[in-house]
Amino acid sequence: MDYIKFLGTAGARMVVAKQLRSSGGVWLSFGGTNIYLDPGPGALVKCWSSKPKLDPGKLDGVILSHKHLDHSGDVNAIIEAMTEGGFKKKGIVLAPDDAINSDPVIFKYLKDYVNKIEALKEEQSYSVNGVSFSTSKRHVHPVETYGLTFHLPKGKLSFITDTKYFPDLSTMYKSDIIVINTVLLKPRNDIKIDHLSINDSKILINELRPKAVVLTHFGMSLLKAKPWEIAERLSQETGVEVIAARDGMQLNLEELLSSENTFCYREHNVAKPQPKK
Ligand SMILES: [Zn+2]
Repeated sequence: MDYIKFLGTAGARMVVAKQLRSSGGVWLSFGGTNIYLDPGPGALVKCWSSKPKLDPGKLDGVILSHKHLDHSGDVNAIIEAMTEGGFKKKGIVLAPDDAINSDPVIFKYLKDYVNKIEALKEEQSYSVNGVSFSTSKRHVHPVETYGLTFHLPKGKLSFITDTKYFPDLSTMYKSDIIVINTVLLKPRNDIKIDHLSINDSKILINELRPKAVVLTHFGMSLLKAKPWEIAERLSQETGVEVIAARDGMQLNLEELLSSENTFCYREHNVAKPQPKK
């Protein structure tokens, strides 16, 4: 079964610092290949406290979209766990060059624990154990940041990671399912924050028209405004299924890709209403 599991949905400094939502990133499992995307603070603990438990020793790769702490805080712990403390050399680590080489967040000694550490560049293709993905153009964010699109046998799955809105986003992410890091409830011009707001995400949903969208990476104001209610409103306004991620939420990709608008019934365990005869 192909799935994505959210081990954290926290987005902004205070939500991470107070752990109002977890900051463990996302576990991806495609055709038996396991990949950890953005293991933030607490990722290792979340693996083992997850139900069912996720064993980082079964990982084939670790990807960082960028080196900010909420995306990389546990990257070294996860690499150690993936390789059983270096006793079992395996796996690949992919991250932007500035996360590996300038003020690195990945310890140098771990280089010998894995098969390869590779620097991500914009608009390139990569593979983790046969699972292929491509990077976007560089995002507008204070450190080198890329979004990702996985090219899976049944469809495309994209992660629009941290970025300020820019028009190219709506041409780079033509996918079936899109996960959008939506930190802000409203755009903020008072301070420089290079993040997407609900308004930006709505523009992207309308322009990209995927089968389903998952919002995650919530900041404080958005969290207070109940992301699940906002997601429902966006679904109604756009006609696209919009889901607000929760800590521990697992999405079955095959079901999501193969059906139209049936997700909400599965997710909430509610029987889908039958058409009247
Ligand atoms: Zn960031």
